[in-house]
Amino acid sequence: MKYDLILAGGGLANGLIAWRLKQLRPKLRVLCVEEQSIIGGNHTWSFHDGDLSAAQHQWLSPLVVHRWPCYDVHFPDRSRRLTSGYASVTCERFAQIITPALGNDLRTGQSIAQVNPRSVVLTSGERLEADAVIDGRGIRDSKHLVLGHQAFLGQVLQLQAPHGLDGPIIMDARVAQGEGYRFVYILPFSADTVLVEDTHYVDHHALSAEQLRTHISEYVHEQGWAVTACLREEEGVLPITLAGDFAEFWNEAPGQPRSGLRAGLFHCTTGYSLPHAVRLADWIALQKDLRADSLAQGMREFAHQAWRGQRFYRLLNRMLFLAGRPRNRWQVMQRFYGLSDGLISRFYAGDSNLADKLRVVSGKPPVPVNEALRAMLRYLPGHYENQE
Ligand SMILES: Cc1cc2nc3c(=O)[nH]c(=O)nc-3n(C[C@H](O)[C@H](O)[C@H](O)COP(=O)(O)OP(=O)(O)OC[C@H]3O[C@@H](n4cnc5c(N)ncnc54)[C@H](O)[C@@H]3O)c2cc1C
Repeated sequence: MKYDLILAGGGLANGLIAWRLKQLRPKLRVLCVEEQSIIGGNHTWSFHDGDLSAAQHQWLSPLVVHRWPCYDVHFPDRSRRLTSGYASVTCERFAQIITPALGNDLRTGQSIAQVNPRSVVLTSGERLEADAVIDGRGIRDSKHLVLGHQAFLGQVLQLQAPHGLDGPIIMDARVAQGEGYRFVYILPFSADTVLVEDTHYVDHHALSAEQLRTHISEYVHEQGWAVTACLREEEGVLPITLAGDFAEFWNEAPGQPRSGLRAGLFHCTTGYSLPHAVRLADWIALQKDLRADSLAQGMREFAHQAWRGQRFYRLLNRMLFLAGRPRNRWQVMQRFYGLSDGLISRFYAGDSNLADKLRVVSGKPPVPVNEALRAMLRYLPGHYENQE
C-alpha cells in the first residue's frame, strides 16, 4: 500500500501533524512510525498563553493537563509575578489522546533505518512508500549551527504535605551558579505534586544526572518539602542557537520534508518547540499538494521564515554566552525580567517588535560593554549569520 504521507518518528511535531490531519482531513492515508513502544517519549511540554492563537489553544486543549493564570521568577535582586498564563502538556496525556485517535495509522516499536523524501526503510528491512515522508526524528547534530546548551533534569515529586505554591516558578535563580546560568524550574501540578527541574545554560554539557538529582534534592530540602516518591524523571539537552547558516543546514538533506527540531523549528533562546510544532501542524493541514517536492519547498520556506524572525534572539544568545563570565549570566536574565509584561510575552512567542528589541539592548548592559559589543558583532553577515 502506498500512503499519502509517512511521518518518520512519533514525537511532538509529527504526533501533532498526524492528529491534526486526522481531525481535519481524515480521508488521507497517513502512517506515523515510531521506534519506541509509545509516542511522545518522556517529556513535559509547557508553553505561554501568548505563544498560540485562540484557535490553536482550542485544538490543543485535550492535551493540556494544567493551566495557570500567572507565573513567578526569582533572581538574587528581583522577584516578580507575571500575570500571563502558562500551560503544560504531558507525554502521558499526549499518548493517551493521540494513540487511539490514530488507531492503525500508528506503528510503534518500529525503528527506521533510512528516510527518503518518498520512502522509509525499517531496520527489519521493510520498505514503506508514500507521496511524501516527513522526517521528525528529533534533533540532529549540524556543523552549520553554533549552539550553546540548556541542560536539565526534572523530577515529578509526590510530597508529604502541600507545597503552598499557587503557580509555576519558571526561573528560580537564587541558587548557586555553576559553569553557566543555573536556575530551578517548578510546575505545581497539584497541591502536593510538583515538577522540579535543575537547569543550566552552558557551553558544554558536563554535569552528570547524579549531580542534577543532588541539586534537586538540596533545593527541595531548602523549601522544607518532604518527598514521598519520585513519580517520573525526564532529562534533556536543548539547543540554544548563537548563529548559523540556514541554507547549509537545510541542504544537509535537500528535498527532504522535515519537522520539529530536525527542521530547526524551535525558539532560539529557550530551545522550546511546541508553538512551532502547533503552527506547522496547522500549515500542513492547509496544504493542497502534499507531494514530497512541494512539501519540502514549502517547509523549507516555513522554517526559513522562523529562522529569519529569530535573528534578534540569536544575537541575544551571543550576549548571554559570549560576553562576561558564564557564572554571571544570571544578571542578563535578571535585567530582562525587569522589562514590561508585554515585551516578555512577545519575546517567548517569538514576536518581539522593533521597540522591544531596542528596549532590550538599550541602557547599561549587565556585562562588560566591550565584550557585549564584540559578542553582538560576532557571526554577523560576512562571517556566519549570512544566509538570511
Ligand atoms: C525533557 C524535555 C522537556 C522539554 N520541555 C519542553 C517544554 O516545556 N516546552 C517546549 O516547547 N519544548 C520543550 N522541550 C523541547 C522540545 O520541544 C522537545 O524536545 C520536543 O519533543 C521536540 O519535538 P520533535 O518532534 O522535534 O522531537 P521528539 O519529540 O524528540 O520526537 C522525535 C521522535 O522520533 C523518534 N525516533 C527517533 N529516531 C527514530 C527512528 N530511527 N525510527 C523511528 N522513530 C525514531 C523518537 O523516538 C521520538 O519519539 C523539551 C525537551 C525535553 C527533552
